[in-house]
Amino acid sequence: MSNLTLLNDRFNRNINYLRISITDRCNLQCTYCNPHNLVPKLTHEGILSYEELLRIIRVAVRLGISKIRITGGEPLVRKGVYHFLKEIVAIEGIKDVSLTTNGVLLKDNIRKIKQAGIKRINVSLDSLNRRNFEKITRRDLFSQVWEGIESARSEGLEPIKLNVVAIRGQNDHEFQDIARLSFDYPFHIRFIEYMPVGDATFNKSHQILTPEIKKRLRNIGKLIRIPNLINDGPARRYRFKGAIGEIGFISAISRHFCHDCNRLRLTASGALRACLLSDRQTDIKGPLRSGCSDLELARVFMHAIYLKPTGHHITKDHDHPVNGKMFAIGG
Ligand code: SAM
Repeated sequence: MSNLTLLNDRFNRNINYLRISITDRCNLQCTYCNPHNLVPKLTHEGILSYEELLRIIRVAVRLGISKIRITGGEPLVRKGVYHFLKEIVAIEGIKDVSLTTNGVLLKDNIRKIKQAGIKRINVSLDSLNRRNFEKITRRDLFSQVWEGIESARSEGLEPIKLNVVAIRGQNDHEFQDIARLSFDYPFHIRFIEYMPVGDATFNKSHQILTPEIKKRLRNIGKLIRIPNLINDGPARRYRFKGAIGEIGFISAISRHFCHDCNRLRLTASGALRACLLSDRQTDIKGPLRSGCSDLELARVFMHAIYLKPTGHHITKDHDHPVNGKMFAIGG
């Protein structure tokens, strides 16, 4: 496999971003991510080994992938993750490696993350209140997470993005407090619309879409738009006058960004998933373990990209709940 083939899909979107879920295990059990409190079921053999993952990444890079995010489950619970991160960072052709974590294990491991070459992280933080945090995550670990975020900051990771899934009745009374953090900290706080993934009993009335979230932040001040840079993700960026941090909105339901989606996901069970909100997946673990060549692996990528839909069909009025589990797909 010598020729570089850029991964353009049928709709001429250039796919250069691979998000990899390295485990379906997690040390939190967030109600929106794992609504039925399921026990992760993948066995050791069921997940891809680091060697297998690195081989997949090398093939992906030769095809034009230049940006990698490691997620889960909780990526930091998987043994050997810090060495793995270092090996990804060292792959020629990769321009950006980032990590999404719930922050529980950050404080004790931030140096290892930094030494691996990771410069920026996203931390999920849906509440600033210990009791409410426990209600949402089913674990009393708020202080540990907050200390982890503080230590990432003192180690100079930049930017630190805080992901807040907006859920009516769970954390909407905290939106203003969370947004106000941007006056005291340089964090990029991103409100994410709650998506109907892995929950047959998904209740639409719990969803709060971006226009309503923005309204609720009005009292704090005027949100000033910051233009998105070419490599920015789907968040629309804003800042309150006088704030040092940013506020972003990821509006997967109210404002689809499928037309310039550059993402491909690799699930913890070893399947390529071209759209988070579509259950179509392409098995890559099977071919990999049956001894296929790099060229054949590249073909699996092409096929997955071929299946990438023009867009998803979930709107505020129409749900097509997705069966896949967020903790296995990686979010
Ligand atoms: N354990 C890590 C963490 O908590 O950030 C990484 C995995 S988590 C599945 C990745 C992201 O998915 C998190 O930012 C989480 O908030 C988001 N997420 C999970 N379920 C979601 C849902 N139903 N709607 C919107 N975002 C969701």
